[in-house]
Amino acid sequence: MRYLILSDIHSNLEALQAVLTAAAGRHDDILCLGDIVGYGPDPNAVTDWVRLNTGTCIRGNHDRAACGLDDLSRFNYGGRVAIAWTQERLTPENLQFLKQLPSGPLRRDDFQIVHGSLGDEDKYIVTQPDALEQLRHLETELVFFGHSHHQGGYMEDANGYLQEVKPSLFRGRSLAALELLPGEKYFLNPGSVGQPRDGDPRAAFAIYDSERRHLEYWRVPYCVEATQRRMQECGLPESLVERLSFGR
Ligand code: ZN
Repeated sequence: MRYLILSDIHSNLEALQAVLTAAAGRHDDILCLGDIVGYGPDPNAVTDWVRLNTGTCIRGNHDRAACGLDDLSRFNYGGRVAIAWTQERLTPENLQFLKQLPSGPLRRDDFQIVHGSLGDEDKYIVTQPDALEQLRHLETELVFFGHSHHQGGYMEDANGYLQEVKPSLFRGRSLAALELLPGEKYFLNPGSVGQPRDGDPRAAFAIYDSERRHLEYWRVPYCVEATQRRMQECGLPESLVERLSFGR
């Protein structure tokens, strides 16, 4: 089975469309690791698409807040404004869809998916000690996570050594492959579709072939300016508009 793995789309329809064009014909099922909404200008179009097209989807912290299951106190100013704006615009159908989304971890095939971490959907895994803690508690040898908006992740080899997985996808290179080996453990992030924060503004995603145990990290350019224009038309905070140019 070939899985298209999407995370942190964040209402960015331009980026999602570029991802789907690049991934067309390369997958059998679609998984979403949460944060469908928040930050971006197209919450309904993106949620409609996720609702109708993904085989499995878990919620993220922005989804939870946008449908009223959580208050906004844990978000910074820009995040708060965008979620309040989103809340007012979501259709009843999309609000209901976000409300019923399960939290991770969820098992599929030979792996699990989570939003932030195994024990806490809001926890950011960005340091090696935190990653090691996750790797020591895996039920499956492979877990996909999101939330940090950094493409890559961590692996532990058969001797218990931790390594960071950092795909090198310089400009012009669209994919980097990782062969998963038996006896090794993997905690991997497909990157963010709609708001990358790893210094590369291109939309990020991954494709995992569970039979071949082969993972591809992808980066695709999209029209960042089009999303930025839409955000300005919607009156979303300028700090959120600007960061898309830098992937920060
Ligand atoms: Zn996110």
